[in-house]
Amino acid sequence: MQWAYPSLIWRVEGASKEVFLTFDDGPHPTVTRFVLDCLAEYNANATFFCVGEQIEKHPTIFEEIKAAGHVVANHTFHHVNGWKTPTDEYLKDFEATERLTKTKLFRPPYGKITPSQRKRIGQESKIVIYNKLSADFDKNISAEQCLQNVIGKGLVAGDIVLFHDSLKAEDRLRYALPKTLSYIYNQGLTVAPLRYELFS
Ligand SMILES: [Zn+2]
Repeated sequence: MQWAYPSLIWRVEGASKEVFLTFDDGPHPTVTRFVLDCLAEYNANATFFCVGEQIEKHPTIFEEIKAAGHVVANHTFHHVNGWKTPTDEYLKDFEATERLTKTKLFRPPYGKITPSQRKRIGQESKIVIYNKLSADFDKNISAEQCLQNVIGKGLVAGDIVLFHDSLKAEDRLRYALPKTLSYIYNQGLTVAPLRYELFS
């Protein structure tokens, strides 16, 4: 019954030179602003997996993300853990944010999603994970380690990189993001946003 459980997406197959930077848990007025400024320096567009309640708290920066040509995507309304949330409740949380983001791209918080949640959400949306985890949220690692988590083994076209535009990640993000962008463009790669059509 493989067809009933749409696959989770870990990277973008067939990309020629695009790396996909993604930012989870925002928007946040100052940290997202920092990300937007970094991306603008390279004319780069990325993907923001937004938490619905953060969108409601910070609507202005949410609009700025979109106005700058980035893609906004769904990371639930309350950053819920799928393993601890009944499917109907999880779906309501998903839908409340989908009404705001509308791009049919979803990333489950903590990567935790049950088969029934995956089946229901996967009917309409693409469920996108990542293959390069910066671990910028981890206060026990150095900023340099965070950078090495992303570029240490090299980046190639199609890689999906996870950062967070959150206060928790800010110290490491401020160090690692500019260096990651510089690395990508020095390699002759470019940065692109995720889109539903990439996977259909
Ligand atoms: Zn998250």
